[in-house]
Amino acid sequence: MDCIFCKIIEGTIPSKKVFENDRIIAFHDIQPAAPVHLLIIPKKHIPTMNDVADEDASLLAELFAVARQIAKEQGIAESGYRLVNNVNADGGQIVYHLHIHLLGGTKLSPVLTNIQS
Ligand code: 5GP
Ligand code: ZN
Repeated sequence: MDCIFCKIIEGTIPSKKVFENDRIIAFHDIQPAAPVHLLIIPKKHIPTMNDVADEDASLLAELFAVARQIAKEQGIAESGYRLVNNVNADGGQIVYHLHIHLLGGTKLSPVLTNIQS
């Protein structure tokens, strides 16, 4: 499958991993938009949030649990952080393998003002 994140999961594309278990990996974004910018992804190839099935409910919950744990480990749980999931073209999705961006380590600019490009 021609998916960058599946290749990162397989190890054919290198990444700076911060977490891995049977279902999930997390690694540094190659083009960080903040001092902490990590991507948390399921090992299951789910293209977008639209493709999440009812049977994926516990996987999705675990993605957020991992995000919380990593935020703590990165020392930004209390200062704060942002979790982002872009969906399809208007949402700005570039990689079509479900992922949550974990952003923090600085005061982030407001995201819900002047949001149209
Ligand atoms: P999206 O816009 O799809 O939500 O975000 C995709 C993210 O993946 C971007 O922030 C981009 O920098 C990151 N990315 C794309 N290719 C690679 C790669 O090969 N390695 C890593 N670590 N991140 C990548
Ligand atoms: Zn994939």
